[in-house]
Amino acid sequence: MLGNVAEYINQAVHMHAKLSGNGIFTEKCQQALNNRLRTEKCLLTTSCTDALEMAALLSEIKEGDEIIMPSFTFVSTALAFVRQGATIVFADSRPDHPGIDEETIEPLITIKTKAIIPVHYAGVSCNMDKIRQLATKYNLLVIEDAAQAIDSFYKGSDNMFRPLGSIGHLGCFSFHETKNVQCGEGGLLTINDPKFAHRSEIIWEKGTNRAEFFRGEVNKYGWVDIGSSFLPSEITAAFLYAQLEHIDLIQSKRKELWETYYRLLKPLEHKGLIKLPIIPDYATNNAHMFYILCNSLKERSSLISFLKKSEIMAVFHYQSLHNSQYYQHKHDGRILEYSDLYSDQLLRLPLYYDLSLEEVSLICERLMFFYNG
Ligand SMILES: *Cc1c(COP(=O)(O)O)cnc(C)c1O
Repeated sequence: MLGNVAEYINQAVHMHAKLSGNGIFTEKCQQALNNRLRTEKCLLTTSCTDALEMAALLSEIKEGDEIIMPSFTFVSTALAFVRQGATIVFADSRPDHPGIDEETIEPLITIKTKAIIPVHYAGVSCNMDKIRQLATKYNLLVIEDAAQAIDSFYKGSDNMFRPLGSIGHLGCFSFHETKNVQCGEGGLLTINDPKFAHRSEIIWEKGTNRAEFFRGEVNKYGWVDIGSSFLPSEITAAFLYAQLEHIDLIQSKRKELWETYYRLLKPLEHKGLIKLPIIPDYATNNAHMFYILCNSLKERSSLISFLKKSEIMAVFHYQSLHNSQYYQHKHDGRILEYSDLYSDQLLRLPLYYDLSLEEVSLICERLMFFYNG
């Protein structure tokens, strides 16, 4: 395991005499993350799902509200708002990228719309200028699902690079095992609009003003609002801090792996056999994921079994949420062509810190063999 994980956990257990949340390691993580994200406030959570739920509570989403988000995303993006009784209005993906098609959003906005949830798929930014313009025009909140987007940026029309997760009113990150920086299960809520700062801490601490009490700002604490137990223990924070200390190392390794995939598979794309990821010029690549697009569901299935024979685990993900068992009857019936296309044809190739360049070459060789014979 990369970094001083065992040592920091040991410190959390034996030295700091506080294993519950909001201790020394939580503070270190929040500071380290805020140095990168430069937000109003960062709060560590037990998952990105939790951070999204906090965002839904802070936004006071209620029954009858409408929330616009892509259909091609993880369930949690929708779950937080569905739990508040909101209706999800699913948007299609872009023709060139699985992220939300910004051009399709405006016609979906009604008097009931409360928020847009851009999901930075594969850590690649949505067109945030466009989304922010719509939000301003219709007075909507923007809550970024930046689960995959640590160390990735959006270049605005002013040519400034802004960290993803710091652009909307609120942002949500994941430190799940499958993400670039991880602690098993973990997440972060970024509060970018100061109007949410005070309440966010209360919702985080089970509806109490305990955080203020610990800072000595009030002399007793009690129940002041709604909330839940959103904060992770110090053991989780200690693990995360050990990873965060090595984020640059993690990122340079992942980017090298990503670039190698791209270079070795380019000939297959030239021949029109597969499609490779496209990074728009306003987005950076944080090498969260390497995917290819097959030509059909059938081709993808045979490629998966072919790779399995060489013990290569390539997986697909995200079945369009508007077609899910839970939501299809609530969906308004619009066909979302590209969301379904990515559901059927996108294939993720292995990409993790411990993967070697040799393994990437081998995987690419097998792919060449599958397509070229
Ligand atoms: C991983 C992920 C989540 C959920 O993150 P957890 O930390 O596992 O709750 C939400 N949205 C997207 C886009 C994700 O990739």
